[in-house]
Amino acid sequence: MQTLTVLGSTGSIGTQTLDVVARHPQRYRIYALTAQERVQELAQQCQQFVPRFVVIAPEHAPALRWALQARGLTQIEVLSGPQALCEVACAPEVDTVMAAIVGAAGLAPCAAAARSGKKLLLANKEALVLGGEWFMQTVRTGGATLLPIDSEHSALFQCLPESPALWAQRVEKIVLTASGGPFRQRDPASLASVTPEQACAHPNWVMGRKISVDSATMMNKALEVIEAHHLFGVAPDCIEVVIHPQSVIHSMVQMRDRSVLAQLGTPDMRVPIAYGLSWPERIESGAEALDFARLGALTFEPPTRERFPALFLAWEALAGPRGSTGVLNAANEVAVQAFLERRLRFDRIHAVNAGTLQAWTPSNADGIDDLLALDAHARALARAQLQRWQD
Ligand code: NAD
Ligand code: MG
Repeated sequence: MQTLTVLGSTGSIGTQTLDVVARHPQRYRIYALTAQERVQELAQQCQQFVPRFVVIAPEHAPALRWALQARGLTQIEVLSGPQALCEVACAPEVDTVMAAIVGAAGLAPCAAAARSGKKLLLANKEALVLGGEWFMQTVRTGGATLLPIDSEHSALFQCLPESPALWAQRVEKIVLTASGGPFRQRDPASLASVTPEQACAHPNWVMGRKISVDSATMMNKALEVIEAHHLFGVAPDCIEVVIHPQSVIHSMVQMRDRSVLAQLGTPDMRVPIAYGLSWPERIESGAEALDFARLGALTFEPPTRERFPALFLAWEALAGPRGSTGVLNAANEVAVQAFLERRLRFDRIHAVNAGTLQAWTPSNADGIDDLLALDAHARALARAQLQRWQD
């Protein structure tokens, strides 16, 4: 029996995690659920999984207490605030933490789980992009087991040699696949008028709003290049991105002898979630099997700088001074939020991100406090860029 904390339980990854958990009541029990808002959904999850703790933003705590009381769930304790997120991530009762918060807000609880040696299932890529080397070092010194949940990185993890000691020796290159998002074939000149609804309508995946916008700009793939670099210790110029609109091949590893291993499946996040939960075993995920007869063709195309300038910021930031990737992530969080609130044009998200990277004066950031300060500073720089690019 594994005891789990699910950070971000009301989100797209959080609810799909609970879907897999519910299929295996003999294997998993829930210690804590956390969310920022959505009181009724969280109360419903509490009813189904009866955790010991539930964490929500302070302004929603009274409503959640009331909702739990109305359901007769008075034994579940309601906590609030960033410290509570860390506490439920590192509690001694917990074996496994699903990190499914969106954004750099997830770094502190991820680090708490890493430091206390948990099995950490990482969906929250922004935490790793900000945390970088320091975060990977924290995982090592804490004795934690870090398993990727992002479908591409789960695919790579499944294709790589079992022992990390062999990765550098055997692997020549890793190839991340990208769907190309909803605007793969749209005239780049027409991107100025894109609405949040259009940007969030992904052809293959239903996801949270932030990652949906990132998929449309391909900043998501940029974050994933950085994520792959840290997770697998691969040099940036040994990471390639290819557009594969069907999202059936989730990523590939090219070996030194030019043999290529790929992981395939229907686009359903429950597969990498189930793999993370059960690794090194395999359990039923609820996903449909691939039907090759119905599938037809798998196609590939290169991403171009004209259409997807965001992607190329990944290599720029990785080549830049330490901290650059955290600055890029913070700028992007600010820009995407502004776009979703209709304060910034879609085609100017990139301008804010590139402008923030340029405006930043490198400083040394090591340790969680420095990293959170870097994140806050970069957000301030990005807000100044917003002023420049808002209509
Ligand atoms: P989402 O917006 O659907 O859910 C986010 C969850 O985090 C919610 O429960 C929300 O209440 C909580 N949350 C948001 N801000 C918070 C804050 N400041 N403090 C505490 N909790 C907060 O997002 P999602 O699509 O589930 O994505 C979650 C993470 O997983 C992201 O980092 C994303 O990049 C990654 N990811 C998602 C998918 C996917 O298919 N959705 C695939 C790969 C990776
Ligand atoms: Mg992904």
